[in-house]
Order: sequence, then C-alpha cells, then structure tokens
Amino acid sequence: MRRVSKEEALADMAARGFDRGSRNACAMCKLAKHGDDTNDEALRVREEDHAIVVLDRYASTRGDLLVILREHVERITDLPLATHLEVQRLVFEAHATLEELFAPRRIYSATLGSSSEPEANPPAMSFPHLHVHVIPVHDDGESARPAAVFSWTAGVWLYDEGEAEQLARELRAAWRSSR
Ligand SMILES: [Zn+2]
Repeated sequence: MRRVSKEEALADMAARGFDRGSRNACAMCKLAKHGDDTNDEALRVREEDHAIVVLDRYASTRGDLLVILREHVERITDLPLATHLEVQRLVFEAHATLEELFAPRRIYSATLGSSSEPEANPPAMSFPHLHVHVIPVHDDGESARPAAVFSWTAGVWLYDEGEAEQLARELRAAWRSSR
C-alpha cells in the first residue's frame, strides 16, 4: 500500500469516473451494480439481496470495508426495517471477519448518507448514497482517533497493483456468515 494525498486520491477517483454527489453518476450505485466498467467487482467481498460488501479502494486503513445498499437510498429512515437489519447483519459479519483476519486494535463502523436534498445542496463530504464504513484500526495514538481515521485530510491509502484483489479474496474466504 502507499499513502497518497487527498488531492491525488480525488484525481484517481475522477480518472475512474467516480463522481461525488451526482445521482446520475453515483459512485456507490456504480459499485453496487453488476457488470460495471470500473473493474471493482473483484473487490466485492459479500453479496446479499439488498446490500453488498466491498473493499474500499480508497482505504483509511488496510481492510477498510464498505457496506453499500444496492439501490440508491439516502436515509436510513427510507429503508424498510428488514433491509436496515440486513445491512446491520453485514456490518456484524464484517466486524467478525476483520477480527478473525487482522486482530485489529479496534474497529470503527459508521453509517454515512444524507438527509437533505443532496442534488440541490450536495454534502461537502462523502457520498449521499447510504453506506456503512467498517474500518479496522491497527494503530494507537493520534492517527487512530475516529476524527483522523474518517478524514482524508492526512491522506488515503491506495493498494498496489493486485493487492486489493488478493485481500478481497482472503476476506471472501474468511467471511464469518451469521446465517
Ligand atoms: Zn447511488
């Protein structure tokens, strides 16, 4: 893995056609769609009826996972409770799998979406499409604080060629299904 600046990560995203805040070109919708042209299907770790788990190409830490709704939904309260529970089951399983594989110091999970008119007034940070970050934290100290882990200000990790695909394979094989 290599650490890159926020600007470099944003440029990489733009080059891959990931656009923030646009419903037409929603990056999360793209990730959740089969047969997309971003080559990110190899990073898919788990699939359920309404949500998938992918290894985040723009990683806060090694093993940073995203649970993403298949449909473009922006609010938890727009989901039927059963769908929310399916998402939370994936979050639970992601925790179990990351514990098994990495024995991290901590694991943070956070649900991100948007509650208000993202098209008229896009949020300054992150994507409006509802998703959950499940992030294994391997360090202690300032860089392990939630405010640092969830920010790109100090940079982002990018996987080397083939590294993310390999890690996704390991995560698939180690997945701790709770069904
Ligand atoms: Zn979307």
